[in-house]
Amino acid sequence: MNARTVVEEGMAEGLTTQEIYRELLRRIGEDPARDGLAQTPERVEKAMAFLTQGYTMDVATVLNDALFEVEYDEMVMVRDVEFYSLCEHHLLPFFGKVHVAYVPSGRVIGLSKIPRLVEMYSRRLQVQERLTTQIADAIAQAIEPQGVGVIVEAQHLCMMMRGVEKQHSATVTSAMRGVFKTQMQTREEFLSLMRHGGGAES
Ligand SMILES: [Zn+2]
Repeated sequence: MNARTVVEEGMAEGLTTQEIYRELLRRIGEDPARDGLAQTPERVEKAMAFLTQGYTMDVATVLNDALFEVEYDEMVMVRDVEFYSLCEHHLLPFFGKVHVAYVPSGRVIGLSKIPRLVEMYSRRLQVQERLTTQIADAIAQAIEPQGVGVIVEAQHLCMMMRGVEKQHSATVTSAMRGVFKTQMQTREEFLSLMRHGGGAES
């Protein structure tokens, strides 16, 4: 038995989403009618809808009206953007921080839109590598900067809970585009800002 089997059978029998979760509870050996679980299918349905709401969003809508023409051509960085996602292999959470930087080429993105972009891609079923490249590519396409760099540090419950990895080790992925790939100096500035911060936060 796996989740897919339940869904397929469920659809064949015309079950609602909540009935499918109720059946899932039954199949893991629980009594879905007991007090603590009676409302669980309803809660899980709502939670899953929230955790996967990124499917209902797209880049154009998220970045709507927040692209600005500028002459600034120094690095823009938004670091420590918290995210929570679900691994597509186990449907268990992975979560951590995203650091985003880019060097503009005539256009910038409103700063508040970077966390929204992270949210849009993380509230889907994901693997960390794809989450990283999707954020980088969305920014690259939206403002065609000189370059963009994205680093994601995450902890995966599917590994931690099964004892596959030490409790506090983090998985780090990066995507470098343009000058972040070709210029070591740019990449190092990014890594240094990421580690030590800058301005008021340092
Ligand atoms: Zn997993």
